[in-house]
Amino acid sequence: GSTIGMLGAGQLGRMTALAAARLGYKLHAFSLEGRESSCGQVCAEVTTADWHDRDALARFAASVDVVTLEWENVPTGTVDFLSTLVPVHPGSAVLAVAQDRLKEKAFANAQGLETAPFRAVRNVAELEAAVAELGRPSILKSTRLGYDGKGQARILPGTDLADAWAAVGTDEAILEGFVDFACEVSVITARREDGVMASFPVVENRHKSGILDTTHVPAAVTPAVAAQAVRVAETMTRSLNVVGLLAVEMFVTSDGRVLVNEVAPRPHNSGHWTQDFCETDQFEQFVRAVCGLPLGPTGIVSPCVMTNLIGDDVAAWPALLAEPGAHLHLYGKSEARPGRKMGHVNRKA
Ligand code: ATP
Ligand code: MG
Ligand code: MG
Repeated sequence: GSTIGMLGAGQLGRMTALAAARLGYKLHAFSLEGRESSCGQVCAEVTTADWHDRDALARFAASVDVVTLEWENVPTGTVDFLSTLVPVHPGSAVLAVAQDRLKEKAFANAQGLETAPFRAVRNVAELEAAVAELGRPSILKSTRLGYDGKGQARILPGTDLADAWAAVGTDEAILEGFVDFACEVSVITARREDGVMASFPVVENRHKSGILDTTHVPAAVTPAVAAQAVRVAETMTRSLNVVGLLAVEMFVTSDGRVLVNEVAPRPHNSGHWTQDFCETDQFEQFVRAVCGLPLGPTGIVSPCVMTNLIGDDVAAWPALLAEPGAHLHLYGKSEARPGRKMGHVNRKA
């Protein structure tokens, strides 16, 4: 059998390892020292080392047939180095765009796709100028490394701009005009090296405290909006030359426009419903795309809802196991810290 190298060792790597095993593939994860590895329980091997440890990276590369990743913030230099030794999908050019909200929006606009209006902001003076242009409400975000709404500050009518700047705490930020969206949707597209693509259906995402709470399948949007969302995701996937998966988060406005919010070149939380209610699950599709295997069909088996188990929510797991029709997925994390994703449950809608 072949071995897939996985950069990162969280729950996305774990669920990829489980899907890979069904197809006879092993997973070797590479992750930072001192991190709990939710992936480790189900991986053939885990290497823990620094992203810049070339000896460890070279040994890792020699032990695998292909490398992919479950975290888009792996340093691009790490991926460039690995690429000299073994195929890496997706490549560092994809990561460079997905790691930087400014590049990401500029890239989408360059493909003719709409985003929120935005400005680069490097200090309070630039923030004042940008707020004067984009107005309030608007959202200040760190350009890099935010997730689950971290590294963001809302600029409301009364917000002090120096306070907002200090709260975000970086000298590379983006101010985004606030999108008064009707709903948020996402599409996950799989693409092989030969360009063959397959997209999962459009789903609706609802957030609580900046963290994805539920995904509703299918999204309650018009056929025209659904088709546009898939076109947007496939345009981004093709133009970025993604091999693997690309999840595209979008805003839908009340007049039916579809705006790109952000992209993630990996399995995505909004695709977890596919494990129980889609013809092919996203983790298996990821393995198929990265390994150049035939892509699977993406039809919905049943309308459904995915609910995240965040922090203490996971304490309800025995009741969820007892609930008929609830499909429980736990990540094996030892500590249920507030805001931490511990598992999810899929149910028919
Ligand atoms: P994720 O956990 O999905 O990676 P993130 O921390 O990278 O999230 P975003 O997706 O940019 O952050 O923003 C989080 C949420 O905040 C969005 O899903 C949306 O609900 C809201 N939001 C972000 N940007 C805007 C905007 N320009 N206008 C309106 N709402 C926004
Ligand atoms: Mg994000
Ligand atoms: Mg997001």
